[in-house]
Order: sequence, then C-alpha cells, then structure tokens
Amino acid sequence: MTVRSRLGGLPTLALVAAGLAGLLTHTVAAPAQAAGGRTAPPERSVKETAAKDTDDDEASSNAHRHILSVGRGDTLMDMLTGVDVPADEATNAIAALRKVYDPRKLQVGQQVTVLFEPRRGGSKRFVGLEFLPDVVRSVSVSRKGDTAFTSSESEKAVTRQPVAAQTVIRSSLFEAGNAAGVPVSVMMALIRDYSYDVDFQRDLQPGDQFEVLYERLVTADGKNAGEGDVLYAALVLSGKEYPIYRHKSRDGRIDYYNRDGESIRRALLRTPIDGARITSGFGMRHHPILGFSKMHKGMDFGAPTGTPIYAAGGGVVEEVGPNGAYGNYIRIRHNTQIATAYAHLSRIAKSTRRGARVDQGDVIGYVGTTGRSTGPHLHYEVLKGGQQINPKSIDLPTGDKLEGRELQAFEQTVRSLEKTFEQARSGLQLARTPGPHEDKGCTKATTC
Ligand SMILES: [Zn+2]
Repeated sequence: MTVRSRLGGLPTLALVAAGLAGLLTHTVAAPAQAAGGRTAPPERSVKETAAKDTDDDEASSNAHRHILSVGRGDTLMDMLTGVDVPADEATNAIAALRKVYDPRKLQVGQQVTVLFEPRRGGSKRFVGLEFLPDVVRSVSVSRKGDTAFTSSESEKAVTRQPVAAQTVIRSSLFEAGNAAGVPVSVMMALIRDYSYDVDFQRDLQPGDQFEVLYERLVTADGKNAGEGDVLYAALVLSGKEYPIYRHKSRDGRIDYYNRDGESIRRALLRTPIDGARITSGFGMRHHPILGFSKMHKGMDFGAPTGTPIYAAGGGVVEEVGPNGAYGNYIRIRHNTQIATAYAHLSRIAKSTRRGARVDQGDVIGYVGTTGRSTGPHLHYEVLKGGQQINPKSIDLPTGDKLEGRELQAFEQTVRSLEKTFEQARSGLQLARTPGPHEDKGCTKATTC
C-alpha cells in the first residue's frame, strides 16, 4: 500500500485487486476491458447529480489536497476515514460518487485526491475528492452544504484513428495478434465476431492469415485512450478468405456483414466457448481434440478449467446436472428439431436451471473434466431430432441480408473501409519499427 499523504498508515481491507497481469497472457480473457474499449463515447458529456438538495456550494480553490493511492485491499471508505474524514461525511460522499462511478471499480494504484478546506483554529473540513479513472474520464465529488455531496463525471473528446494490422498465424490467433501489436481488446472482439462461423479449435492452421482495421482512441492532448470498434477484418483459413465489415444500416443498426451483405450472425455459434482461451489446436499433447465421427458424435474444445461456456443459441434449458460419462451436463432446446449439449463441465452457472430461457452467448457453465474425460475440455454436441449430428453439416444463418438501397449503401461502406485499410496499412509500412515479437509473427508489410 502506498500513501502519498502526510497522514500515513491506512488500514488494509478487502478491495478486490483485479488480476490485471492476466490481461497480458494470451490464454486469459479480459471481457470488461473489451466491452469498455468498444463503447467509449466520442463526445464530451457531463453527468451531474446531487446526493441531497441544498443551496450553498463550497469552493475548493484554496483547498488542501491529499493525494492517496489505492492499495491492495483498500476501500474508499477506509481511505477517507484514514485521512480523518468523519465517517458520516465519507458515507455521504461515497453515496454521491456511486451515481457516476462504482467505487468498487477503483483499481490498485489509482490515485485519489482528497480535498480539505482550512478552517479557523487550524482545523480542516472535508470538501470533496477527485480522480481520473482513465485517460478520458475525470470523476469528482464536492460538498454541497453541511451534509450533502454532489458528484460529476466528465469525458474528454477523443478522435478515432484507424489502425491496420496484418499477420500470419504461426501458433495461435492470439499470439499472432500480439506479434502484430493488436491490442487484447481488439483480438477479443475479433474472436467473438468470428465465433459464429469459425471453429477456433479445428479451422485454424499454421500459415493462415488475418488482417484487421480497428480504431484507436486518442485524446486532444495526444494520449492513447484505448480502442474503439473493429471496422473490418479478414481471416484467411486454408486459403479461403472470410472478410467481415462493420456497417450501420439506415435504421441505425450496427452489425457485421460478410462481403455479400449477409449478417455474420448464425442461429448457433460454431465456437460455443471463449475462443481466446482455446488451447492451441496445433501441437496439443495431453488429450485428443476430436472432431465429429461415428464414435465420438461431438466436438471437443480444449481450454483451461473455468473457461466460460456460451449457449450456442437462444433456447430453453432441457437437461442440467450430472449425467454419467458426460459428467456435469447441459442440454438446450433451440426449436422442435435442434438442441445442443455441453459436457464435462466443472461448474454450471447459477441461472442455468431446467426450464430457464437462455440467450445466445449467455454463460451457462464452465469448462472442466468431470465424467469420462482425460483433461479439461468442452464436449459439444448438436442434436437434430434427438440424434447427434456433425455441427458442420448444418448452417443456420439468421437470414438477415442487406438488399436494395441498403445493399448499395453497404457496398459504399466496403469500398470506404478497404480504402482506409490500404491507407492505414501503408502508413503502418512506413512507420513500423520491429517489435520484440517480430521473430514469432510476421506481417505482409515485411518480407517473410
Ligand atoms: Zn468429446
């Protein structure tokens, strides 16, 4: 714990230290990061709320500032009372803060400035606090009257810069992304988008390629503020190209489409698991990762115990619980014909109960090795009329296809994105300096 204050020694309590180190390893997911990165609003916005309604507003220009740093196990309450903020005032200030920011999201190392106003006789009065949760946002709480506090949040304007990356997959998609300098959140988004169509366990081969065009958010003062959306991507698997384009239709709906203007969504996910955590299909040692055969009748996805398993499609939970050689087992009925089953789970999600309704992509359970299993993996089955069938034999598009003027507008989007990609890529070629992972992956921009 670090305390940058003349008042030392804050008590250490239980604030969860988010496992940030995990974000950097290729098998660990970072869903919050990915979600946050994709939704950062471009406009400056200020939310203001008052915890209690009072008249006088306190100025804090001549305030004393205590800069505290959140330590492992600290709560904001402890930090405030640790610098002699009365407990009732700290409670009110935190209540006001909650309207714009969840204090449990404070990260270890986050600096929080606590403001005091000097009073006659050498005493001081707590007047508020402020901190910058990231390079874009600033959050503050200030006193309003005797007992009330008000909070506000502001966001700096950011510009969106297109960034292109292009690489050959040597060992795993995630590693290739890392080698090409693509941020984790972008790789996560990419894998999510391709999970409808690509079996991340079996479809990827060494020598396959991918390219991506995504947005980098930059503040007016030139600071990197994370990533925006994936605008375009293409996977080249065994010589076949799968491009996807982000397009906003005239009714304002944003979706990804293939080159023909068909939505990339399918009624069933081809990879019903967090694809970023799949143990590389190349060079698996300990357990065979099987495809569909007369004997096997399912698809195996190798991933560490605890990896989230997604409902492949929307439906109703038909079976859930221990089921012989299957171990912990879930079966979801999607319609009168089609059901999917998930086996060997370590744990079943609380909301996955018999008769419960699930949406596509909901986390229904977690990878394990229960039942007759030789290592942690998901055994996944697609059933048609009660019989296991090869998931590859059925393709269930959502039927969402752009037509007429909408298709023309999409063609425009495609041309524009391809042009932007080429421009960003040539910029990349000029600006690129070899990184530490250069030897592992390789971009088309350099000879390889
Ligand atoms: Zn299996």
